[in-house]
Amino acid sequence: MKKYVDVILPLPLPKSFTYSLPDECAEDVKIGCRVVVPFGRKKFYTAIVLNVHYCAPTEYEVKDISALLDASPILLPAQFKFWEWIADYYLCTQGDVYKAALPSGLKLESETIVEYNPDFEADAPLPEREQHILDLLTVDSQQCVTKLEKDSGIKNILTVIKSLLDKEAIFVKEELRRTYKPKTEARVRLAGTADEKRLHILFDILSRAPKQLALLMKYVECSGVLGAGTPKEVSKKELLQRANVAPSVLNGLVDKKIFEIYYHEIGRLDKQEKEIVELNPLNEFQQRAFDEVVQSFQEKNVCLLHGVTSSGKTEIYIHLIEEAIRQGKQVLYLLPEIALTTQITERLQRVFGARLGIYHSKFPDAERVEIWRKQLGENGYDIILGVRSSIFLPFQNLGLVIVDEEHENTYKQQDPAPRYHARSAAIVLAAMYGAKTLLGTATPSIESWQNAREGKYGFVQLKERYKEIQLPEIIPVDIKELHRKKRMVGQFSPLLIQYMKEALEQKEQVILFQNRRGFAPMVECRTCGWVPKCKNCDVSLTYHKGINQLTCHYCGYTYQLPKSCPACEGTELVNRGFGTEKIEDDIKILFPEAAVARMDLDTTRTRSAYEKIIADFEQGKTDILIGTQMVSKGLDFDHVSIVGILNADTMLNYPDFRSYERAFQLMAQVAGRAGRKNKRGRVVLQTKSIDHPIIHQVIANDYEDMVGGQLVERQMFHYPPYYRLVYVYLKNHNEALLDQMAAVMADKLRAVFGNRVLGPDKPPVARIQTLFIKKIVVKIEQNAPMGRARELLLRIQREMLADERYKSLIVYYDVDPM
Ligand code: ADP
Ligand code: ZN
Ligand code: ZN
Repeated sequence: MKKYVDVILPLPLPKSFTYSLPDECAEDVKIGCRVVVPFGRKKFYTAIVLNVHYCAPTEYEVKDISALLDASPILLPAQFKFWEWIADYYLCTQGDVYKAALPSGLKLESETIVEYNPDFEADAPLPEREQHILDLLTVDSQQCVTKLEKDSGIKNILTVIKSLLDKEAIFVKEELRRTYKPKTEARVRLAGTADEKRLHILFDILSRAPKQLALLMKYVECSGVLGAGTPKEVSKKELLQRANVAPSVLNGLVDKKIFEIYYHEIGRLDKQEKEIVELNPLNEFQQRAFDEVVQSFQEKNVCLLHGVTSSGKTEIYIHLIEEAIRQGKQVLYLLPEIALTTQITERLQRVFGARLGIYHSKFPDAERVEIWRKQLGENGYDIILGVRSSIFLPFQNLGLVIVDEEHENTYKQQDPAPRYHARSAAIVLAAMYGAKTLLGTATPSIESWQNAREGKYGFVQLKERYKEIQLPEIIPVDIKELHRKKRMVGQFSPLLIQYMKEALEQKEQVILFQNRRGFAPMVECRTCGWVPKCKNCDVSLTYHKGINQLTCHYCGYTYQLPKSCPACEGTELVNRGFGTEKIEDDIKILFPEAAVARMDLDTTRTRSAYEKIIADFEQGKTDILIGTQMVSKGLDFDHVSIVGILNADTMLNYPDFRSYERAFQLMAQVAGRAGRKNKRGRVVLQTKSIDHPIIHQVIANDYEDMVGGQLVERQMFHYPPYYRLVYVYLKNHNEALLDQMAAVMADKLRAVFGNRVLGPDKPPVARIQTLFIKKIVVKIEQNAPMGRARELLLRIQREMLADERYKSLIVYYDVDPM
């Protein structure tokens, strides 16, 4: 009987598709294996088998799969369940989840290859863009479209290619691109038998070739072929090194058919064993908190650990991990930011050595593929340390998930779908494995705080810093007043400068926090007020002095800084506002002796860049560290005595219901970097809103007062944690049509969800990459069944798209937006 498979494709398609299995592989295809299938106009997609069965679909003609890629599944049953949950809850497709979950090396993709036709002769001169492509192809006759697009800088390259194809100037074919290549090692072995008799014959033969003989002898020694037991494998490189001969000597022996070279697959994963040290004993307060966490896991699946900065939460995690491993379980340790992994990795490696695996996006993809494969087997890592995407890794026996700095909004994936929150998803994942989740932070998210208060989560507090150093003293500085009196030096108050001087004199370190990167967030024409904007997106551009260019932080497009204003031809374009790069420049003038480093998105594009900035600061090579919110996240330095918050107002004035919560968290966290080891630190908090309640709460470190105030407002205005938010985004190239469609959709939503629907509105960035955007907010009661709301939303979407006029509408959702 013919067998069929249902597969998920890496595309935003609402359902799975069915293919038939050719007889040769029908028995070998299992659920969770990858298969290559044709779909639409493309010949190759890597799809994942959801189901194997015997019923032929009736609505469409079934095609055979083209190839089976795996002998055993690369996805475990628990992962399927998890993917399904993510797709359901975050209103996206399993294809979206698939794209996000798998490292790209496991998703072979097809590439269109363009090939130059050597017989082509043009009748007439070609248009410039077409000629440009042909020129590139004469250099290298076969190239993939993505490379051509990059090299040529042509935007709509497909139309150019189509035209060239019509003229028969090129050929086009499709190829499966393999991105993952196993790492191999060249090894050497004897060709033919390797007994004593033969070896003596060989020694004789080589008696007049002393170098070759020496190499053979060395091989005999390294491999132990003449000893008892199975001979050891011998790497080519090592053999040549130890025999101290040139590769040509070995080649000679290969030519004589005495040796043969073969390739052996070796892993890329770090196997180096560091010296393992004992766990630090917990102090009295930490031990009590540890016991309370363990106790709470008896009754509840999730526990919130609210511990002030530098109370030693990480030490508690380490003890919990040790306990979980002792019980034969695996642990997933989530961090919000790559910047943090360096320090935590070191602390964990000291205790757990090679049992720790690290998974993050700045790692080479091939390494991620290997970690994935390792996790599939019985010998997976005991602990995985990673950023949000590590929730997608396979686990055999997950017992504990730790979500460190659980309040961080980087746990939420923004674009593209799935727009999941790794904290919520981790809790669900843990529950699927019967595992426990610990959320740790000094400044809980209001959602987690509320869940703990209502008894859904366990709740443990740790109020003493390790070594009982007092929390830093926070000194507010009214910069409005200082600006008026012209007493500010750039962005620095006299007090901050004085404290910095004192600290530097005593060889102590300083952290300066500015919530923006770049040199000046905006450039403005002094005459007419013109501000350069991105042509794709409706946002003003940021000036980057290092490259002397304007960049769009949404689409990444860079522009030359114009010499004069295109609106009035005025030549005075001035910088407004101050980013981290500008601060760095000013500091170098104010403190020419000090070693200064900057940590923001621009200076940390590579994994080693992060590590270097952090290591230099740790080792005291840097005196002043300037950074965006990256410097606020859980970093642990010993000698920081002064922290400067340069401008609290940008955080307070951000137009979002979470801005006060977020401002409090950022300021409390960055303040927490001061005075962790030796003496009490000081924080200079510069603000124009000296009387703002949040400023008072930060100074008093009164988290509960902040939460209390926020909860009242959230309840009053129907926001989380009392209401669940779903943002419905609508996109179209045609602005007028979009307005019309958005209005119709909002009416339909109101008919179902009543006055809990807001909008349609223009989001702060109302156009991205040439698409116009509208946003509708739907508020859903926290305890209303989410499944029902989801069905209604999707029904309305289907109704809209079924209407001929609205077919071009793009709809997507952001559930629990941040
Ligand atoms: P948190 O995560 O709560 O901010 P950390 O776990 O980073 O705090 O601890 C702050 C510092 O104190 C770290 O350098 C850590 O090594 C040290 N520390 C905390 N608890 C202990 C302990 N029980 N034994 C030794 N050192 C500790
Ligand atoms: Zn842009
Ligand atoms: Zn102008």
